[in-house]
Amino acid sequence: MASIKKLLIANRGEIALRVMRSARELGIKTVAVYSEADRQALHVRFADEAVCIGPPPSSESYLRMERIIGAAKETNADAIHPGYGFLSENEAFAKAVINAGLIFVGPPPKAIEIMGSKLAAKNAASKFKVPLVPGTTEPVSDISKAKRISKEIGYPILIKASAGGGGKGMRVVNNEEEFSEQMQRAVSEATSAFGDGSVFIEKYVTRPRHIEFQIFGDQHGNVVHLFERECSIQRRHQKVVEEAPSSVLTPELRAKMGEAAINVARSCGYYNAGTVEFILDENKNFYFLEMNTRLQVEHPVTEQITGIDLVKLQIKIAEGEKIPFRQEELKIHGHAVEVRVYAEDPANNFLPDIGTLKTYRRPQGHGIRVDDGFEEGMSIPFYYDPMIAKMICHADTREAAIEKMIRAIDEFQITGVETTLGFCKFVMEHEAFRSGNFDTMFVEQFFKPELLNKSVIDSAIAIIASTLAAKVFEEATNGTSNHDSGPAETSSRWKANRT
Ligand code: ADP
Repeated sequence: MASIKKLLIANRGEIALRVMRSARELGIKTVAVYSEADRQALHVRFADEAVCIGPPPSSESYLRMERIIGAAKETNADAIHPGYGFLSENEAFAKAVINAGLIFVGPPPKAIEIMGSKLAAKNAASKFKVPLVPGTTEPVSDISKAKRISKEIGYPILIKASAGGGGKGMRVVNNEEEFSEQMQRAVSEATSAFGDGSVFIEKYVTRPRHIEFQIFGDQHGNVVHLFERECSIQRRHQKVVEEAPSSVLTPELRAKMGEAAINVARSCGYYNAGTVEFILDENKNFYFLEMNTRLQVEHPVTEQITGIDLVKLQIKIAEGEKIPFRQEELKIHGHAVEVRVYAEDPANNFLPDIGTLKTYRRPQGHGIRVDDGFEEGMSIPFYYDPMIAKMICHADTREAAIEKMIRAIDEFQITGVETTLGFCKFVMEHEAFRSGNFDTMFVEQFFKPELLNKSVIDSAIAIIASTLAAKVFEEATNGTSNHDSGPAETSSRWKANRT
């Protein structure tokens, strides 16, 4: 069994730090790579060693395979962890790492290749009887044939890019008249985004929920699942609030979907951490969507409810160890909710916002975890993903986790950039979210920027009222207790700055 002594993390930001923390606890030395824009970044300061790999644009730094493998060689690292994004789902990178005599902390390259194509993934999964959304299993290019198929499936349908990701190359078609135009758009979007214009057709499931399963496989043929995460709160088909467990799965449905997820992993000889995504329709039928062959952004909610450090498990598996538990031994402990704090303006169609974090104060307290890569005074670089932090709250029940999240959002102080914090509070307070009766159309259905302003104004009014009440109380009791007005003042300044 190989043992990892020094690990290079081919990533930046919160995920680079998160991986390094677990490596350090395992007694493994860490190597950071960084672009010129990240010289002062926390992952660089945290690592035992750091290597500059090029100028700020990702294509000249974090995406340069040879340079990153070269940095591993220079520093005598024996393994590479790719994090998420960048090269994490690049089969050629995984191969090059292995060919350089290093350990890739991830799945086998062949599995990345199969699951990297949505069509190849569907074909592999169908052999293991995993339910698929009705649709084509081959790319379609002939428009009249495509229309015939769509009619058979029944509108609305979805045209999807086989190489797709990040919601790109995806088009909803409501009727035959729109078909040709939308198909041309999907093909050209897929060609420019992925260099591969092949598209296929799927039934558009109206009002679905996005439910994904965390799976783990080892190199000895064992595969388990670590339950589900619900990620139905999305903007632009991209997740912004996640939770585990889902409020709609019964133990029976969980067991069925978990088994299907394990079968998807088996269909491509998978090992290490992976995520199998499904959509669940209104009648609780589930369909396989795709598999992500890496650690997910939202993996902490699974860590909170299982008590398992997924990065440590990834490292152990890469070293050749067996999964140290059996499926039956796993239990769900309480409930975890995650919000992604992006430097984005929810009032302006979630447009990325860049700037300096003038104030940056994390919330504290029992059951709150903040994974980030920033400090007060740092700037959000314009070159990369605008995520500032992930905040995860864990409690005994879903309701308690939501209440804790609302408290934590109120305590999180960020000025200098617009953030999704206010939007996330809107979600936490919304009746549809709280009752568990929501789907992927939540944002389109319920969110309007005016409502956000209203909730901010409501909070500001509440704060003014409580400050006044405290003052009246203080005067009435002739007390000297100042400590209440401190946080209230800071908080209102923060809120005023954000509007
Ligand atoms: P990407 O890889 O581009 O993120 P996915 O296949 O993972 O694309 O889908 C992203 C999101 O798009 C899903 O979470 C879901 O909200 C929506 N979606 C995908 N396929 C369908 C479908 N057939 N019907 C309805 N919604 C879908």
